[in-house]
Amino acid sequence: MLERALRGTSVGGCLSAARRAALVVAALAGCRAAAPGLVPGTLDVHWMHGAADCHQNTDPELQIHAYNATTYIIRQNKCLTFEAPFIYLLIGTRSALSLDTGAIETPALRDAIKRLIGDKPLLAAHSHGHGDHKASDAPFAAAAGVTLVANTPAGQQAAFGIAAWPDGLGHAELGDRPLDVLAIPGHEASHIAIYDRQTGLLLTGDSLYPGLLFIRDWTAYCASIHRLAQFANAHPIAHVLGAHIEMTSKPKVVYPYGTIYQPDEHALALTLAQLIELDDALIQLGPTKPTQAIAHDDFVIDPT
Ligand SMILES: [Zn+2]
Repeated sequence: MLERALRGTSVGGCLSAARRAALVVAALAGCRAAAPGLVPGTLDVHWMHGAADCHQNTDPELQIHAYNATTYIIRQNKCLTFEAPFIYLLIGTRSALSLDTGAIETPALRDAIKRLIGDKPLLAAHSHGHGDHKASDAPFAAAAGVTLVANTPAGQQAAFGIAAWPDGLGHAELGDRPLDVLAIPGHEASHIAIYDRQTGLLLTGDSLYPGLLFIRDWTAYCASIHRLAQFANAHPIAHVLGAHIEMTSKPKVVYPYGTIYQPDEHALALTLAQLIELDDALIQLGPTKPTQAIAHDDFVIDPT
């Protein structure tokens, strides 16, 4: 962690000395404590991770982890979808926001979320428009009290008040729980990141997670990650949370795409240091898209 934090700050040269010192302190502390003022939560959870023989798999369709009383992380069963995406639920005093509707069409995700939020209205948002993040849009759209965000840049702009795409900052207010929304196209054109000021969670979808970072638009992606890193560097970040796990626990080693059994998978959470490491790597690579994937300890840059 310390080595990684230091390495993450050494290339780009854009961080203040004070910020570098803060990163080192956080690394030495093992990032266990939430920054002052942030509502804490726990990631002490053993995620279901598929099976060697899915006919023998007895895991439920959904695993629901309470990060805290108003923040939930939900994973879909890898034996039902190899994508096994993570879906997030943030609950305010007036309303709630869910991020993504999963990789399989099922009412179970919607019903689980409705049970958790009671009669509060739900804004059902998407990190982006790929199929493994919107498969249950129809069950969500059919439910009372649910507003489904359209999977387009215009839809994201309208839902979060992003005046200029992608440089403008959007917002949502769930009731004593303000969110900041950044447009981060590159993996996909309508991709957003959400920052929860209450917990310091930064939700990064498929743009950064411990796995294969597929990049469709190299120029847009580099600009998006740089903007996201600058934003994160100016805000307290508890965890950087993406939508999948594809890395193993061994540095630079990724499970083959499509794997249905990951008994030795990487932790879900990444850190600000790893976001800065990604930004620095993209700056070093420059404007020309690489012709092969580049493995880092905790993610793989894959523009191919
Ligand atoms: Zn995607």
